[in-house]
Amino acid sequence: MPSTTTAAGRFRTTTPRMLRESKTYAKQMLMGGLSGFESPIGLDRRDRIRALKTGDIGFVHSWDINTSVDGPGTRMTVFMSGCPLRCQYCQNPDTWKMRDGKPVTVEDMVKKVARYQDLFKATGGGITFSGGESMMQPAFVSRVFRAAREMGVHTCLDTSGFLNRNYTDEMIEDIDLCLLDVKSGDEETYHKVTGGMLAPTIEFGKRLDKAGKKIWVRFVLVPGLTDAEENVENVARICEEFGGAIEHIDVLGFHQLGRPKWHELGIPYPLEDCKGPSAKLRERVVKQFEAHGFKVY
Ligand code: SF4
Repeated sequence: MPSTTTAAGRFRTTTPRMLRESKTYAKQMLMGGLSGFESPIGLDRRDRIRALKTGDIGFVHSWDINTSVDGPGTRMTVFMSGCPLRCQYCQNPDTWKMRDGKPVTVEDMVKKVARYQDLFKATGGGITFSGGESMMQPAFVSRVFRAAREMGVHTCLDTSGFLNRNYTDEMIEDIDLCLLDVKSGDEETYHKVTGGMLAPTIEFGKRLDKAGKKIWVRFVLVPGLTDAEENVENVARICEEFGGAIEHIDVLGFHQLGRPKWHELGIPYPLEDCKGPSAKLRERVVKQFEAHGFKVY
């Protein structure tokens, strides 16, 4: 993928060096790492493309078990590899390239869900697909979701919605809850923040509402980037378009926990000197959303 530049003019999204060095990061494990998964070997490019279409295999960065972070109850969160966006505040640039992920069969992933199903049911938890961008591998994600729901396990998709068109109405049926990132409220700011387009996110939110699904909107508050009053107002108006689907909005304050990964991958980090939002700024933003009738966390 060629390098591109944001309106800020200095945010190069992909470099050959990043591609090389991201291999190092593919080995990095979160809490659950990739233990318990056998990696299918001998996959050539054609095999990978076929696997993507059928969902027989997914490319996974890592997984973990957590509580009430990525949805209700105790959850297994699976971080899929590959993302088409390049958010300036990304905490996981090591997930950007799908080819850096470990191939995992759909059967192994379903077995993993089955192993934890009693825990999920006891806590009202379930499985969450995150990333990277889980919508890059829609067939795999939806096959696991389908199997999970057949076991009575709650399903949650954490996504920007940018790849809305990858997701069929049938696939949406197997989502119980969507953690939908509304990263900004107008196309220009959205592009500056992510390198992508806002319209697909709005479209996906509307489709979820139409299908009777639940949404938790996530908005990352970055001083100097996403905090303008008008931007927040526009995000709130977009959320209104999702009707009764929205249960609440999470206002997530920017932090610098992802910075070491950017450094290690050798990617120019555009928020090097950015600080998290003050309590006063956060309060203003929360009040803006509340004024539109939303519950805010
Ligand atoms: S969508 Fe998520 S994984 Fe992709 S660049 Fe943005 S923050 Fe990172």
